[in-house]
Amino acid sequence: MRIVFIGPPGAGKGTQAERIIAKYATAHLSTGDMLRAARDAKTEVGVKAEKYMSSGQLVPDEVVIDVISERLQQPDCQKGYLLDGFPRTIAQAEALDAMLAQKQTPLDVVLELKVPEEELFKRLAGRGRADDKPEVIRERLVAYTKQTSPLLDYYGKKRLLKSVDGLGSIDGIFAEIETILDKYV
Ligand code: ADP
Repeated sequence: MRIVFIGPPGAGKGTQAERIIAKYATAHLSTGDMLRAARDAKTEVGVKAEKYMSSGQLVPDEVVIDVISERLQQPDCQKGYLLDGFPRTIAQAEALDAMLAQKQTPLDVVLELKVPEEELFKRLAGRGRADDKPEVIRERLVAYTKQTSPLLDYYGKKRLLKSVDGLGSIDGIFAEIETILDKYV
């Protein structure tokens, strides 16, 4: 099963991603985790990404696209994966489409976790990660609205989009996700 998981920062994607991975035994490809690991290891990618991440901006498309295209070659991705935090721009989505067309492995479903903005701000302010300072949070929400939310339309037109209400209990939200994903197993 090949899944794209979309949602604004603070929607609870990380929590639900863990459950999806556990139940469906699929590879978890989180560009946020990969970029943080690269940054901490001070690799070339990490050094390039650092200034964008710390200010809440998106890392340039070509950097992230390279990271993902390499990751998709790995053996653990051949049976499927959950893409978490990628694509985040139309250019990234188009690059992904091109990669998957070449491999003849189309996406099965794009899951959106939907949470209203005022709730996101509350949640993020309480989380305390280094990029969770108020001005950085604001910047990340702006990046989501401007650059990532157009993907909802992009995947909606391809009939791949399924939206889940991200307000409610962790179990309740996961139950909704299961109802959707069980159709693709
Ligand atoms: P969030 O907690 O906002 O969902 P992530 O952990 O997914 O954020 O990503 C953290 C940061 O890494 C982002 O704010 C951005 O700078 C960078 N990043 C992650 N994925 C991408 C991507 N697909 N394109 C560009 N930048 C990205």
